[in-house]
Amino acid sequence: MTQTADIIIIGGGVIGCSTAYNLAEHGAGKVILLERGSLCSGGTAKSCAIVRTHYSIPTNLIHAVESLNIFANFNERIGGDVGWRQTGYLIVGPEAHRDPMLAVFQMQNAHGIDTAVLTPEEALEKHPLLHLDDVGVIGYDTQAGYADPYLTTMAYAQRARALGVTIHQDTAVTGLQLHGGYKTVQTTQGLFTSPVVIMAAGPWTHTLGQMIGVQLPYEVSRHKVITLKINQPYQLTWPIVKDLTTPDKIYFRPETGGVVLVGTGDHGDPIVDPDSLTDHVELDHVSRIDALISHRMPLFAEAHYVAGWSGPYDITPDWNPIVGHVPGYDGLYVAVGFSGHGFKLSPTIGESLAQTVLGQPPRLPIADYALSRFSEGRKLSGAYGIGSIS
Ligand SMILES: Cc1cc2nc3c(=O)[nH]c(=O)nc-3n(C[C@H](O)[C@H](O)[C@H](O)COP(=O)(O)OP(=O)(O)OC[C@H]3O[C@@H](n4cnc5c(N)ncnc54)[C@H](O)[C@@H]3O)c2cc1C
Repeated sequence: MTQTADIIIIGGGVIGCSTAYNLAEHGAGKVILLERGSLCSGGTAKSCAIVRTHYSIPTNLIHAVESLNIFANFNERIGGDVGWRQTGYLIVGPEAHRDPMLAVFQMQNAHGIDTAVLTPEEALEKHPLLHLDDVGVIGYDTQAGYADPYLTTMAYAQRARALGVTIHQDTAVTGLQLHGGYKTVQTTQGLFTSPVVIMAAGPWTHTLGQMIGVQLPYEVSRHKVITLKINQPYQLTWPIVKDLTTPDKIYFRPETGGVVLVGTGDHGDPIVDPDSLTDHVELDHVSRIDALISHRMPLFAEAHYVAGWSGPYDITPDWNPIVGHVPGYDGLYVAVGFSGHGFKLSPTIGESLAQTVLGQPPRLPIADYALSRFSEGRKLSGAYGIGSIS
């Protein structure tokens, strides 16, 4: 039997679930979310879930600041515990990064975020394990932190369900057809139809686009995360550190169990099929990251490797997402290409996309994220150029 809806969302990661909740919250009719596996089984499950506002593209900054406010007050604003932990964010960089860092700080300050340039002594008071002799500039942002990606996705899904959204798990979309105003969605669990479809399948969104001849400009790469342990607990109160002096632009943050979690802000290893991705992390990656970490925190020369995993980044040509209507396709919307930003932006991206779909003016602007910017030569670029900090 064919099931009908006013709006169908494809993908049950943090973006799909936030959008589902926000649609229901903003008065959508019958909303159905289709997820091929279980909720939070895609890129969101692998996320380091860092929430910071050090962005210089105004739209990114606006979304990052308001999304952080939502994370920090999630129970009151949305409902549920997302494991929010405010740690602050230390950025260490070469002297050449002083000007862009100060420019971004000024923008952050204008949005109520407290930032400061620190002396090495001040930075060591916040994080005593750091070795900072070779660093040109140290910046600090007090409000940043991290949350739990699984708890966040499930909190959105639970609130969405409570507001009437139907979520079908183990329901893979295998076909998508356009019939005038209506779209038919074929799945492993039968047919669904709706005038509106939102494609939010993360790195797998290509496959959906190809079903209806839509090419989305993003590529997928593999990003590795490792956790390391030393003989003393890595304190949960120590700030997240972003090390712009390293070729991989590594970042690290505390994790439960007294370990440090280390990820990279580089492009990652290109992959054609996100389904080919395995969790395996090669030992040469562990050794290389271990060397970079030991340089920044000499006590880690004695560290041992605890665990590692890989996850997919969906990266557009300017490292910023594509969010909104797909031109030429009535009732078709997309949210993809979040690279390493998607978790922290998910609260307000879900809200603004939902409002746009419902024909309401979005509380926060998303016009900059239009798909058309690539064909119109309007790539988004920030104070540090194009890349993971933009
Ligand atoms: C290693 C790593 C570290 C990261 N760290 C951070 C960070 O610190 N801070 C930050 O802000 N961001 C970070 N990110 C990025 C962030 O996690 C992602 O941008 C975000 O989680 C993407 O969410 P999504 O909902 O778009 O995609 P996904 O979580 O991938 O969800 C897509 C869903 O669609 C489903 N799906 C796919 N195909 C179909 C189909 N045919 N039918 C039905 N369902 C389908 C999938 O099963 C999946 O559940 C990180 C990402 C990785 C990989």
